[in-house]
Amino acid sequence: MLFDDPEIEETIASVLVPVAVPGAYTYKVPAGQNVVPGTIVKVPLGPREVIGAVWDIEPDAAINPKKLKTISRVYETTQPLDKDLRRFVDWVANWTLGAPGMVLRMVLRSEEALEPEPPVPGVRRIEGAQPDRQTAARSRVLATMEDGFAWTKSGLAHAAGVSSSVIDGLIQQSVLEVVSMPAAPPPPRPQLDFAQKDLTPAQTAAAGGLIDSFDRGAGVSLIDGVTGSGKTEVYFEAIAEALRRERQALVLLPEIALTEQFLRRFEQRFGVYPAEWHSEITPKNRARVWRGVASGDVRVVIGARSSLFLPFKELGLIIVDEEHDTAFKQDDRVPYSARDMAVVRGHISGFPVVLASATPSVESHVNADVGRYTLYQLPERASGAALPELKAIDMRSEGPERGRWLAPQLVHAIKDTFAAGDQSLLFLNRRGYAPLTLCRTCGHRFQCAHCSAWLVEHRFQKKLVCHHCGHTEPVPETCPSCQSANSLVACGPGVERVAEEVSDLFPQARTLILSSDLPGGPERLKREMKIVEEGGADIVIGTQLVAKGHNFPKMKLVGVVDADLGLAHGDPRAAEKTFQLLAQVTGRAGRVTGGGLGFLQTYNADHPVIKALYRGDKDAFYKAEIESRKVAGLPPFGRLAAVVVSGPDKVFAEGYARALARAAPSDEAVTLLGPAEAALAMVRGRHRYRLLTMAPRQYDLQSYLRQWLGKGPKPTKGLRVQVDIDPLHFL
Ligand code: ADP
Ligand code: ZN
Ligand code: ZN
Repeated sequence: MLFDDPEIEETIASVLVPVAVPGAYTYKVPAGQNVVPGTIVKVPLGPREVIGAVWDIEPDAAINPKKLKTISRVYETTQPLDKDLRRFVDWVANWTLGAPGMVLRMVLRSEEALEPEPPVPGVRRIEGAQPDRQTAARSRVLATMEDGFAWTKSGLAHAAGVSSSVIDGLIQQSVLEVVSMPAAPPPPRPQLDFAQKDLTPAQTAAAGGLIDSFDRGAGVSLIDGVTGSGKTEVYFEAIAEALRRERQALVLLPEIALTEQFLRRFEQRFGVYPAEWHSEITPKNRARVWRGVASGDVRVVIGARSSLFLPFKELGLIIVDEEHDTAFKQDDRVPYSARDMAVVRGHISGFPVVLASATPSVESHVNADVGRYTLYQLPERASGAALPELKAIDMRSEGPERGRWLAPQLVHAIKDTFAAGDQSLLFLNRRGYAPLTLCRTCGHRFQCAHCSAWLVEHRFQKKLVCHHCGHTEPVPETCPSCQSANSLVACGPGVERVAEEVSDLFPQARTLILSSDLPGGPERLKREMKIVEEGGADIVIGTQLVAKGHNFPKMKLVGVVDADLGLAHGDPRAAEKTFQLLAQVTGRAGRVTGGGLGFLQTYNADHPVIKALYRGDKDAFYKAEIESRKVAGLPPFGRLAAVVVSGPDKVFAEGYARALARAAPSDEAVTLLGPAEAALAMVRGRHRYRLLTMAPRQYDLQSYLRQWLGKGPKPTKGLRVQVDIDPLHFL
């Protein structure tokens, strides 16, 4: 808050700055300037200047005003951050035990956005002026400019079909003049009734329920619909309702690679593209979206988890699609779950939140069971197509010969699918060629120098890569340990190796690897997704990227190369994650036309998860999983918080973790496990130890942790303590 003291005749204010300190700092407000809570400012902080915001905290009037620094800039062109957003920032900080300034940083990501968009240089015809010599190109330019409007140089060059040097020539001759044009006009608004599909009865009921939910203010709905049931069409109607009510809408997606298809579908429904917000958009577009969201010009945003922190002027709906996806959890800096925080943001501002999935998280499932969330079920595909028929292949008795990864039954099915002109997908959640490389002569294994992880061979790039820190090294000619030549062998399959086998077996087929780390980045992925969607590939080999929400109309067969991959972890969610991933990926088969077929290659055909999958018994899976969580006191029946200690020195880090554990306040309700060396014991040269606290559902674990870490030994010598509330990953 502001503080006026007539005695000192100076105004001071609390400013939240983007550093990891618990509170705000006090600054002097420059004379003649006015700030209110939420005003965005630039302030000196040590040797640098940072962007922050005036906050709802009493400034410290006890500090000698002579010692206070002055706000160096007040951003008057942007609206102050509104009260709901400020409460949201405080809420997230409080929940995650993060510093509020670090949460605010996620709001103020784009400094460029705080300035008005600079005008664009353009050119205009000078009345009556003629070039010394008329050429065909010049005539085309002048004809294009007949309407007298200003053009951008590149726009004009393109429209007239000339090179920019032609335009420069005309400027030189004073036929055209350089003018400054206003920045881009606001984007066109979505049209509510542009092209609405005829919804099926189940879709109509769900859409109607979502529309009615706006009258109830805050509240969460869960759309639980099988793959291909048309969940997107349903929540599009909720978006239309938000727009009808003059509110903005936000759609969170777990994966950037999904946005392309989503953008096109949105355009088919609403006639325009929504705004995008994720790590791949340019700084200029990022600034535009930020400004547009704040001014209200942008009505719908589709984005990654960080879009939750955009300063919407009048947000009235959040959709979290594929809500079970663990990509919604941010693990570093401020660890938070975008799905859970979306629910919080809706609650603070009193608007509905919609979660959608074919395989809801156990948490959301339970919330729907007990009536905290309103459940809408879509048990059938919109096309009427049957769900795929699934079979387990027992790799012990029906597996392939040594050195091969695809069982004869699966190969046979691919052959039939290819012969029928349909697509097959082989799914393996392992990037690269082989997960482990070793020397046949001496047994040397290639390990990352900075992490406790094997290096993964990427044959296309001719490199060994660490998937945890990104370290790469060339594949050596000889073994670094025993110097034998040609002695390195690849162990186990990655997608590249499966692709090699496929090319061997089906040389005539068009094969494609979809993996996030191939050269070409997201642009290439987008292109390739589109190729698959349009039927331009016969056999696709993909990592978990392909499991997520895509609609590949021609895909008939899905083969899961290693269904057991996720089951072995010491992760309380291993069963849930495996079930979700495999149900999603097999759900890619036969979405439009039916007749889909799926194979699960497994060494555990009797495992409850595998059984539930091939029997298509989703209810049985959830029932058993919920029961076992209840018995074990695991989420959502109990609460978890992880504390990860890391440091450059192993002995020191472990000693500190033990001292921290000893300092834990004793409380009957809280169980403390560890410290234990993390499954990933070293990452980027830092040794890691994990502590895990468990408590009953209603227990205030945050207060416990605050008290514990507040009075426990302080980390020194490069040690770091990271708190992770509701952890999803246990590496
Ligand atoms: P989900 O997200 O539930 O997996 P989608 O929303 O992607 O399903 O829908 C699957 C396919 O069915 C899409 O191609 C979509 O356009 C189509 N579809 C959905 N609902 C309808 C409908 N009511 N009429 C016609 N096509 C529909
Ligand atoms: Zn060797
Ligand atoms: Zn590494």
